[in-house]
This record gives sequence, C-alpha cells and structure tokens, in this order.
Amino acid sequence: HTKHNGRNGYHFFQPSMNALAQTQLQLMNDLWLAESRHELRLLYQPKFQAPAGPAIGFEALLRWEHPQRGLLAPDAFLPLAEKTGVIISIGLWVLNEACRQLSEWRAAGYTNWTMAVNLSAMQFEQPSLIDDVMSCLTRHNIPPEMLILEVTETTAMSDPDESVRLLTELTRLGVKASIDDFGTGYSSLLYLKRLPASELKIDRAFVNELRAEGEDATIVSAIIALAKTLNLRVVAEGVETVEQQAFLTELGCNTLQGYLLGKPLDPQSITHMVKHTPEHFTRREVEK
Ligand code: C2E
Ligand code: MG
Ligand code: MG
Ligand code: MG
Repeated sequence: HTKHNGRNGYHFFQPSMNALAQTQLQLMNDLWLAESRHELRLLYQPKFQAPAGPAIGFEALLRWEHPQRGLLAPDAFLPLAEKTGVIISIGLWVLNEACRQLSEWRAAGYTNWTMAVNLSAMQFEQPSLIDDVMSCLTRHNIPPEMLILEVTETTAMSDPDESVRLLTELTRLGVKASIDDFGTGYSSLLYLKRLPASELKIDRAFVNELRAEGEDATIVSAIIALAKTLNLRVVAEGVETVEQQAFLTELGCNTLQGYLLGKPLDPQSITHMVKHTPEHFTRREVEK
C-alpha cells in the first residue's frame, strides 16, 4: 500500500478498500493541503436593502479550486471538513480573508459595507472563537459592527444556553450575529427571544416556493412577523424572481439576497460591477 502524509498523521490506502472510500480519503488529504496550496477562494454575494438596493454588504461564500475536480461548492467538501476537523483552520482562513477583502474595500471608500461570514457548528464551539474574531478585526482595522457572523438556526439551537452566552459576548464586543437558514431547524421561541442576534435569514427553501398565496406565503409572513416582534432585521435569501422581490418587500423584509439581485462573485467582478452600476452599491443612509 501507499502512504500519504496527512497533516494529522498517516492515511493508508488499502487495495481492498472500495473506490468510494478511497475517493473520500483522497479528498480528505487534499482538503488538509488546500489552504497551503492556495486552492481556497471566497466569492462575495451582495445583500441589498429592500426593495431595490443599494447593497449594504456582502456574504463570503467558500469555494475550493480542486486541481483535478475544478471549482467545488461547499456542499461537496464542508461535511467532510467538519467531520475531520479541518474546518477549524479553513474557517480561520475564511474569516481572515473576508476581513482582508473588506479592509481593501473600505480603503477604496466603501466604509458602509458589512461583511458576513458563515460559521460552522464546530467553529461555533471553539473556545478561541471570540479571541480569533477580535484579533482578526484588529489585524484588518475593521470596526466590529461591520462584521456579521452567520450561524444556522440548527447550530444556534444545538446548545441554546451556550449560544446565548457566546452571542451575548460577541454583541457586547460589537459584532453582529445572524441566524441563517431560519425555518429549517427547531427553534425554541424562548431561546430565540433571548438570543442577541441582529438579523434572521429566511431559508431559501421558503423563498423559492413563494407565491402570493399558498402555504409558503403564510410561513414567510409568520417568520417576518416573528422577527419583527423579536426586533430582528429580516433577510430573505435565494430571491430569484421579481415577484418574490415585490412580495417579500410588501411583507416587510428588510434585506434581499439572491440570484435576481446579485450572484456570488469574485472580488474582481464585484469591482467591475460597482464601477458600472455605482447606484446599486452606494448607501444612501446608514442603518444599524
Ligand atoms: P448559506 O449561508 O445559506 O448561503 C446561501 C447559499 O445559497 C449559497 O450557496 C449561495 O450561493 C446560494 N444562493 C444565493 N442566492 C441564491 C439564489 O437566488 N438561488 C439559489 N438556488 N441559491 C442561491 P453556497 O455558496 O453553495 O453555500 C452553501 C452553504 O455552505 C452556505 O449556505 C453555508 O451554510 C455554507 N458555507 C458557505 N461558505 C462557508 C464558509 O466559509 N464557512 C462555513 N462554515 N460554511 C460556509
Ligand atoms: Mg449564510
Ligand atoms: Mg442560508
Ligand atoms: Mg444554506
């Protein structure tokens, strides 16, 4: 058998091993090396003030430029990254790169833009999370309130007491928190009320099916009403049609994100887009 030196030891490829297991092992080894090989990329998807802009900030979305398989979306490697723990170092890379990019945009004059970074469940459980976040902000000279940490409803509710503690501390330091993929988990309303988040993102599954009547319209209205009651801003993700845009706005959604308004793009394309449609990217008012 051949021996591959992974970052956390040795992995053995047995001839008897089935093809799928071998593929997974290979992917795992590649993943441990992805960062040092400079194969990780961030795309940035704008978040727009409803109904039609301007952009209030961006969400960093991770991609892996695999040497053989091409550009991989998170679904193709995040579960493995989470299982093997490599998500911790990748997550730090994401946080740092997103902050670095934001500081570059801030230097170009876009000081009103926020940056949202997705956190995995394992990152959320890291005792060093708050220190890591704060030192990253300091390193790039970014005011804490310009960083939004997105955690899924499922992650936030897996240990609600701990989430309340963590988000309270982050909020005290000025960092914003967003509850991602809302509606797909099982929130205790009692905890949701105590969770010091600043926004709630309606999962795109609900937005996708949105029509003026029907079940999803009812659910989306209920989520927006709940968010308003809890004093949370509401973001709709996955907005793909003008009908959805109009309807979500009518329901009181504050922020819209989706292919209709802006796809996840590399920084060069964003610079290009900003130059050509500056009216979509200049904030007329500062919101908190
Ligand atoms: P998410 O945070 O809920 O991000 C939204 C996902 O929906 C993104 O997929 C985005 O590209 C996609 N999307 C945005 N607008 C539309 C639309 O109009 N229609 C459709 N069909 N899709 C839309 P992506 O980039 O593949 O990311 C998937 C998930 O992977 C993210 O869901 C997030 O949970 C996770 N993820 C992405 N980047 C990171 C990261 O840096 N760290 C961690 N821990 N997780 C990440
Ligand atoms: Mg997100
Ligand atoms: Mg989401
Ligand atoms: Mg999602």
